[in-house]
Amino acid sequence: MPTFQTSPGMRDILPPESGRWRAFQLVFAELVESAGYGQLITPLIEDVGVFTRIGEATDVVTKELYAFEDRGGRHVSLRPEMTASVCRAFAQHRPIAPWKVWYAGPNFRQEKAQRGRYRQFDQVGIEALGVDDAHLDVEVIALGWEFYQRIGLRQVRLIVNSLGEPDDRARYVEALGAHFEVAGDALSEQSRETLQKNPLRVLDSKRERDRAVIDAAPQIADFYSAEAADHFDTVLDGLRSLDIPFDVEPKLVRGLDYYRRTIFEFQGGTLESAQNALGGGGRYDGLVEALGGPATAGIGFALGLDRTLLACDDEGVFAATTRELDAFVVDVTGGAAAVAITAELRAAGLAADRSFDQRSMKAQMKLANRSGAAHAIILGDDELAAGTLTVKPMHGNGEQVTIPRTDLIDHLQRNEP
Ligand code: AMP
Repeated sequence: MPTFQTSPGMRDILPPESGRWRAFQLVFAELVESAGYGQLITPLIEDVGVFTRIGEATDVVTKELYAFEDRGGRHVSLRPEMTASVCRAFAQHRPIAPWKVWYAGPNFRQEKAQRGRYRQFDQVGIEALGVDDAHLDVEVIALGWEFYQRIGLRQVRLIVNSLGEPDDRARYVEALGAHFEVAGDALSEQSRETLQKNPLRVLDSKRERDRAVIDAAPQIADFYSAEAADHFDTVLDGLRSLDIPFDVEPKLVRGLDYYRRTIFEFQGGTLESAQNALGGGGRYDGLVEALGGPATAGIGFALGLDRTLLACDDEGVFAATTRELDAFVVDVTGGAAAVAITAELRAAGLAADRSFDQRSMKAQMKLANRSGAAHAIILGDDELAAGTLTVKPMHGNGEQVTIPRTDLIDHLQRNEP
């Protein structure tokens, strides 16, 4: 056992897997930038208040924050998600609305680590602030859907719901609370605890014992104001017009307390149900205000990278790739010539590596082979004396040739695999 290992729920991402992470972020950036979203980079650490405003009934805030006092006595926390930081940034900088931003990066939650659930995990996401229009909800959901299409994931289910206007939601929560109170012991102990904090979250329970009571619970749709119903209808019509398949799921409430009106989740078909949420989001009119800014409408989503890649593994899509080397330089004349040759190759835009430590021809050829390079560029005493290089194709059955050293770049560019 080495002296140190990564902490629970924290992982090293080695190559070539790390390349897949970058590709994931690139595909996302490409997609959302073409829809007018610009990248926002916020600090990993914020005043803990930025996150506690998210909601008191959220485990993310009450149990899982990496909060601490810094050396200056400030109460800070590693971010558990990014929406709160985006809203804090909006309140701080007061950009012109609509403000459409995207982000990518790690978040931290002290959860019980298991497959698909980590203490440091990555997300990509978008947020659009300052627009109330239901058509924006459609745009946001459609971008999430399109992202999964682009990475090739097929077993994705989109579920949507509306929590209504804040008043509708409040009346619903009251009715729901009353329903669950009456149920009493028919609910599991954990759910009775959740009930004291937020009756909505009881709907999240996946415990068998709670099922009958939850199935009999009042439905949010019966509490919508005309305005909320209208907004939701427009969202659903928009999704239909784009041929995006979805299911309305009246029990979807999502983890964070700040949601209003439209909420949605993308579920993976291959993952266990406790970890099957690949991503999700919703409207959170009111969050910017709670962080000290002006009353501002907002909507967005965050997609989990770690979990989505697990789903990709299960479906055999979006595999890791590494850049193929064009050339591997084998220099048995001391290694100094290889310095110049690799530099020349790289300057010409070719991917090149070499061996070090003055190994034997046999050992260097073995490395060239293992590197996967398309060509070995061999420099022995004969080549050095004659001003030539031997180029050996490493894949297929191309012939080895000896060429003037000055022809190397031309030769490789003409013989690209
Ligand atoms: P949330 O911010 O809780 O709505 O999460 C959005 C997405 O982030 C989820 O659907 C997951 O894909 C991902 N996610 C959240 N928490 C974790 C975690 N502890 N480990 C891995 N992924 C996570």
